Amino acid sequence: MEQINDLALKNFREYLRIPSVHPNVNYNDCVKFLKQLAEDIDLPIEVIRVKPTKPVVLITWKGERPDLPSILLNSHMDVVPVFEDKWKYKPFAADIDNGKIYARGSQDMKSIGIQYLEAIRRLKIKGNICKRNVHVCFVPDEEIGGEEGMKLFVQSEEFKKLNVGVSFDESYASRTNEFVVFYDERVCRQFSIHCKGASGHGSFLLENTPGEKITYILNKFYEFRDSQRELLKSNIHIERGQVTTINCTRISGGVQDNVIPCEMTISFDCRVPSSNLETFEKMMNQWCKDAGEDCDIEYHQKNYPASQTKLDDSNIYWKAFERVSMQMGFKLKPEICPGTTDSRYLRQIGIPAFGFSPINNTVPLLHAHNEFLRVETFLKGIDVYCSVIYELANIVENNY
Ligand SMILES: [Zn+2]
Repeated sequence: MEQINDLALKNFREYLRIPSVHPNVNYNDCVKFLKQLAEDIDLPIEVIRVKPTKPVVLITWKGERPDLPSILLNSHMDVVPVFEDKWKYKPFAADIDNGKIYARGSQDMKSIGIQYLEAIRRLKIKGNICKRNVHVCFVPDEEIGGEEGMKLFVQSEEFKKLNVGVSFDESYASRTNEFVVFYDERVCRQFSIHCKGASGHGSFLLENTPGEKITYILNKFYEFRDSQRELLKSNIHIERGQVTTINCTRISGGVQDNVIPCEMTISFDCRVPSSNLETFEKMMNQWCKDAGEDCDIEYHQKNYPASQTKLDDSNIYWKAFERVSMQMGFKLKPEICPGTTDSRYLRQIGIPAFGFSPINNTVPLLHAHNEFLRVETFLKGIDVYCSVIYELANIVENNY
């Protein structure tokens, strides 16, 4: 046991030492490392290039019933930049101090990629064979939106051939004993509102000016913003993913100080829970109308809700996941992801997708200085995946 734990830890640290950090990530060393690891566990590997410099690495543990929908275990290879002078340890050295592994990617999410594979190694050693194919997938570019990563991969023929029934990807570390599970994400809306109106000398009190319209709109958006902040603060049961966030990100217009311009523009970044989207959209359209004529919305990002992954008896994968959590005595805490992850690309094409990181009792340090993961938490996570993979890859009750 000690030996196999040491091996897992060694592989984890080796992976952390590859600086697959933005901007302009070179993924070659990740691919090379994963090829060696797959060979060591005796699993077939395929490298799919969705773009010449953007590899998707796919490692497969074949099941007895490849006709059944498969299990996809996804992680991203890239990590966000570091401010090295703010770190106690070198961010790509994977030093261990007091039982903690310090490195960029230790929580987000190189740990999980290794845990998937080390779990399969253990299941294989014990002689387990599963019914369904299990695909362990490593994608590029999640941290910059996945446009040349998962988004392209899900559209490829190679992906369709996998016949994916359910996917797992990241959530985030939880401070409590529970594990956070994402089943949905907020919808991102970014837009500019162009307000046109009367133009003239800066000494007049004209009516119908762009300035008045912008003021009205800004006030409405920020009144609503206040209500959402209040909601989040006053109710401990409400999570960040359940409220709408609004931020004014740009205001522009005008030519010189003594001229009232004929147009001013105001831009917002809004993240809206999918259940509130329709109401929100109606409300903001009304604000623009009430602000006066000629207030037009120009969208830069107009995302639509992906289908939420169901957490009820109709979802056989959720039932199995819950069974495992009961057997192992851990608690799952379903949440709507406040940001975005690659899971949305799977949900958009109708595949149930869980965001899940087996990291509890840990300060969430994704994208932060001195990101670390306890060795103990890392090793426990492998046990969690052993059970999750075994349970889910053996579901035969229907083809979902
Ligand atoms: Zn991540």
